[in-house]
Amino acid sequence: MKKYAVLSMDVEDWYHLDYFNKDECNQNQSTMDGLDIYLDILDQYDIKTTFFIVGELVEKLKDKIEIIKRKGHEICLHSYAHKRPLQLSLEDFKKDTILGVESFKNFTNTDVKGYRAPCFSLDRDRLDILRELGFEFDSSKIKFDAHDLYGRINISDFQDTDTNIYKKANFYEFEASTVEFLNKNLPVSGGGYLRIFPWFLTKGLLKRFFKTNKHYFFYIHPFEFSENYNIKVPENTNFKTKIRFNMGRKSVENKMHKLIKLLKQNNYEFVTFNQIIKNET
Ligand SMILES: [Zn+2]
Repeated sequence: MKKYAVLSMDVEDWYHLDYFNKDECNQNQSTMDGLDIYLDILDQYDIKTTFFIVGELVEKLKDKIEIIKRKGHEICLHSYAHKRPLQLSLEDFKKDTILGVESFKNFTNTDVKGYRAPCFSLDRDRLDILRELGFEFDSSKIKFDAHDLYGRINISDFQDTDTNIYKKANFYEFEASTVEFLNKNLPVSGGGYLRIFPWFLTKGLLKRFFKTNKHYFFYIHPFEFSENYNIKVPENTNFKTKIRFNMGRKSVENKMHKLIKLLKQNNYEFVTFNQIIKNET
């Protein structure tokens, strides 16, 4: 069986992070240099991947989006304004999503067919809205009980086509990778964990994950690669949040190379989500 790895990026700026109040952030400061750093890393290994981009950044990033498309990557939606879908009414969620879709159409002539919710904050009602709007896939599912912001999506009527790919009619749900350890599901798929865990721990968890023979769905953000280390966060930001934001940013690039090499050694094939859908049908 083929094992796929999707090394996706959720393209948002530092002030979109849920633990900052966007209105209190000085939005003239940007960590979007991290997007270029990641694109360079992907180029070095000739890896194509999926970029989930926040709709309100599309106008500003339109030239960059052209470059990303030309390199053969896939462009998808990461909500319009990075509000957590579960905090929006169904109607507002629909409006936010349509606004996002239209931004891509108007500024970059791109049809987005995939969605990832901010903070994995999605449920079945909202997932059905995505299906209704013509999306072909979503990747907002994660089995991780310790994170209180993450949503739960009931997809019990979906066909489990593989261990972490689910399907209903022509719609796919891709689940971010976690590994069971001491009766808990630990994520092995997020940039935050790559930054914060020492490499030996990540490597140990990944080796455990590889034994499951599942596909590997990873996500990271521009701020994690950004070399703008002097972002002035709002004054009332607590110590824990500052640590969470800054920890491991200087070492993440090096760890990313290690991660890619480890996946290669374990025969993973690097693809976009769209390529998986094409290969599966
Ligand atoms: Zn996000």
